[in-house]
Amino acid sequence: MRSLEQTMIIVNDSTLRDGEQAPGVSFSLNEKIQIALALDEAGVDEIEAGTPAMGDEEIASIAAVGKMVCHSTAISWGRMTRSDVNAAVRTGLRRVNLSIPLSDLHIRVKFKADRSFVRQRIRDVIPYAMDCGLQVAMGGEDSSRADLDFICEMMGAAERAGAHRFRFADTLGVLDPFKTFTIFQRLRRATDMELEFHGHDDLGLATANTLAAIKGGATSASVCVLGVGERAGNAPLEEVATAIGQLSDMTTRVDLRCLPRLCEVVSLAAQRPIPDGKAIVGASAFSHESGIHVDGLLKDPATYEALSPQLFGREREFVIGKHSGTAAVKNAVALLGFTVDEDQARQILAKVRKHSGVHKRPIKPDELAQFYRSVDAPVETAI
Ligand SMILES: [Zn+2]
Repeated sequence: MRSLEQTMIIVNDSTLRDGEQAPGVSFSLNEKIQIALALDEAGVDEIEAGTPAMGDEEIASIAAVGKMVCHSTAISWGRMTRSDVNAAVRTGLRRVNLSIPLSDLHIRVKFKADRSFVRQRIRDVIPYAMDCGLQVAMGGEDSSRADLDFICEMMGAAERAGAHRFRFADTLGVLDPFKTFTIFQRLRRATDMELEFHGHDDLGLATANTLAAIKGGATSASVCVLGVGERAGNAPLEEVATAIGQLSDMTTRVDLRCLPRLCEVVSLAAQRPIPDGKAIVGASAFSHESGIHVDGLLKDPATYEALSPQLFGREREFVIGKHSGTAAVKNAVALLGFTVDEDQARQILAKVRKHSGVHKRPIKPDELAQFYRSVDAPVETAI
C-alpha cells in the first residue's frame, strides 16, 4: 500500500518547452508568463520553462518565468552536455532535466557512438551539474525503443551520480498501456529514484499510457496543456490530472476548476482552437442532445453524466437539435417561460428536426420561440 505522500502524483508541465516545439507554435515572453501564471494558479507542481541552450532570449524568458511563479517550481531542460548545463546555470533556476538518448538507433545515428558513450556522458555531466549547484533529473530520450536492461543500468548510473529522478520518454508514442505498465513495474523494482513518464500521442494513447505508468510505479507525469507538442502532441494535462483523480487511488494538486481557463490561455497563445468535442474543456464536453439521454438526465443526472461539469466550474447544457426528443423540447420551451403539452411539443420537435437537419447546427433560443409561436394554440404562462 502506498503512503499518503506516494499517492500524490507530481504534475510536470512542459507546454513552454515540448509544447512550444509543436509545429507552428511560438510563444512571446508575455504569453509564456501568462501560461506560467495560469499553471501556477492551477496548482501544477512543476513547469518545464524552456531550453536555455537556445540562447540569451530563451534564458531571459526562463528566468522571468522562474521569478513570476509562486507555488510551482520552474525547471530548465537541456541535453546531457556540459555546455547545456552552463546555459542552465545562467537561468538562475535550481533544477534541470538533462536528456540523453537511450535507444541504440539514436545513439548510433545521432552520436555515431555506442552505449559506452552514454555511460560516460552520465558519469561526467550529472556530477558536473551537481557541482554547479543544480538538482538533476535525467531524461531518457526514446526510452520506449531502448533495451530495458540498458535503461536500468543507466538509471543506476544516474542515481549514483546524484540524479533524483528518471524520466522515461515515449518519444515517438509507440507504447500501449499494457506494455507501459509492465515497464514501470520493472523500473520501480530497479530504483528508488522518482520515476516520471513522458508520453506522446501518436496513437492517441498518451493519457492511457501515463495512467498505466502511474499504476506501475511512476511518481510524476510529464504533460502539456491541451496536449500541444511535437506531431500529434503530448499527454494532455487536463486529461491526465482529471483521470488520476477519477480513475485511480491517487491524486494531484491540480485544481480542476482552473482547467478551462488554463486551456483557453494556451489555446489563444498557440493559436490552436479547442475542438468542440475535446475531453473536459471542449465546448460540447457537457452538452446533451439525444432525446433518450436528455429524458434520462432530466429525471436523474447520474443516468448519463459520470463526470460532473461542476468539477471544472462548468455547467451541463441541453442542446436542441435533430436528435432531441419531446422531453428536451418541453424543458427548453419552459426555460423560455412557456408551457406546451405533448402534442405541441411533438409539433415543435418536427420543426426543430427539419431546421437543424437543413442548417447542420443546434436550434437557437429565438428560433425555438418562433417554432413555439407557430404551433397550434400554445398555452401562454406568465413570466
Ligand atoms: Zn517530448
